Amino acid sequence: MYYDVIIVGAGPGGIFACWELARNSGLSVAVFESGHELDRRRCPIDGKKVKTCIGCPTCSIMSGFGGAGAFSDGKYNITNDFGGTLYEHIGKERALELMHYVDRINMTHGGEGTALYSTAGTALKKVCMQNRLTLLSASVRHLGTDINYRVLERLYEELKDRADFYFDTPVGEVEVMDPAAEGLPAGEESGGADTDAPRPRFRVVTKKGTFTCRECIVSVGRSGSKWAEQLCRKLSIPTKSNRVDIGVRVEIPAEIFAHITDELYESKIVYRTEKFEDHVRTFCMNPHGIVVNENTNGIITVNGHSFEDPAKKTQNTNFALLVAKHFSEPFKDSNGYGESIARLSNMLGGGVIVQRFGDLERGRRSTVKRIEEGTVRPTLNATPGDLSLVLPKRILDGIIEMIYALDKIAPGTANDDTLLYGVEVKFYNMEVDVDDRLETCYPGLFMIGDGSGVTHSLSHASASGVFVAREILGIR
Ligand SMILES: Cc1cc2nc3c(=O)[nH]c(=O)nc-3n(C[C@H](O)[C@H](O)[C@H](O)COP(=O)(O)OP(=O)(O)OC[C@H]3O[C@@H](n4cnc5c(N)ncnc54)[C@H](O)[C@@H]3O)c2cc1C
Repeated sequence: MYYDVIIVGAGPGGIFACWELARNSGLSVAVFESGHELDRRRCPIDGKKVKTCIGCPTCSIMSGFGGAGAFSDGKYNITNDFGGTLYEHIGKERALELMHYVDRINMTHGGEGTALYSTAGTALKKVCMQNRLTLLSASVRHLGTDINYRVLERLYEELKDRADFYFDTPVGEVEVMDPAAEGLPAGEESGGADTDAPRPRFRVVTKKGTFTCRECIVSVGRSGSKWAEQLCRKLSIPTKSNRVDIGVRVEIPAEIFAHITDELYESKIVYRTEKFEDHVRTFCMNPHGIVVNENTNGIITVNGHSFEDPAKKTQNTNFALLVAKHFSEPFKDSNGYGESIARLSNMLGGGVIVQRFGDLERGRRSTVKRIEEGTVRPTLNATPGDLSLVLPKRILDGIIEMIYALDKIAPGTANDDTLLYGVEVKFYNMEVDVDDRLETCYPGLFMIGDGSGVTHSLSHASASGVFVAREILGIR
């Protein structure tokens, strides 16, 4: 079966590419997605019968309509300062313009009335500077997990009749077709000299059949990182990979960070350690949120959510502290390094480990009793343990330094009862060699979103989808 455009992956990148194509053209579009439809996405962990990850064949947290972002906190950071390097390909102004465009679509599909926070003019910037910390600039649209879900529902409502969605259908192969070998008419780029039929350039192989298309947008996110690597290897598309971020998720009483989160909601604060001059940064802040498990390729790491619904708010705020590790030649497998560290925590704790900051500082493991005696009630059922047995010294030293630095701008962060969950790993997909159209060396084969290594966030991934759709449509 032939489609003009096939999109692989229904995360934000794929959804917004589909949105722009389906609304602005009569092109036939199909979206293939490994995971389920939105309303069938359910993680079996209920905290009672199923307490920890049971390794479902398709992880409903990471896969399905909405991608990894579906149950996320829905923080759309509108900035070029972090969240990806889309601007390196399309320019800063265009990148911001597309992020605002995505925001407007979200606002007309259930997100209306949600808060837009901004670092512009905040006094926190100076306070950070006075304490060896840097506050990065951004506008943050906070949808919250529940409204983010509602926006996805509305987008799907509009898209389902304009494009063919194939759920539970992982793409096995994307093959580049050789027109001569296929017996197809040779011809002009736009369709062929001796036929009006468009000339397919790619064959997309799934368990539901083989499909052909003229343009193929690969947007497989983090969960599709291994698959994308194989695809690039097979098609000899150049890639590079040298970064992984490793750290912990911090959970504290919400009051401690309230003066920051009330004003900015999400603040990206960077600290340069005294000892090694490494960069440690805050990431994914969830005021009154919960800490959650994340399953990446069978490895359990930690993440966080928060909800707009007041009934679902907790007493705690959580955020990650991450140290970026860049590797140089000859080592190439930065994600493998991160995975090994996460595996170590899974080996010792059966999943995620939780430790009181006071126990870490005293060089002893946390126990159920010590956690229970603490003042911070954990929102994730993790195994009390010792993170110093898991995290490399240099990374752990950086995190401890950063906790004391944050204590200066938010006293109480370095309290004994502060909880640290580990490990949090931010895997970076290999960076695919794409040009300023986000096109690979094969004309018509685009790689976008987190799976391309160009983006690492909801807003950048979504913007990359809109961008590529417009490139295909010739809209500037
Ligand atoms: C718990 C959590 C919270 C987060 N919170 C935030 C946040 O608040 N703000 C923010 O900016 N970012 C957040 N992120 C990151 C954000 O979700 C991602 O940056 C974003 O979803 C990337 O979009 P994407 O479309 O590139 O990839 P994804 O969202 O990962 O979507 C890719 C899709 O492709 C599918 N796929 C993979 N391989 C195949 C294949 N072979 N065939 C067919 N389909 C395939 C996957 O099933 C998946 O649905 C969070 C992530 C997680 C896990």
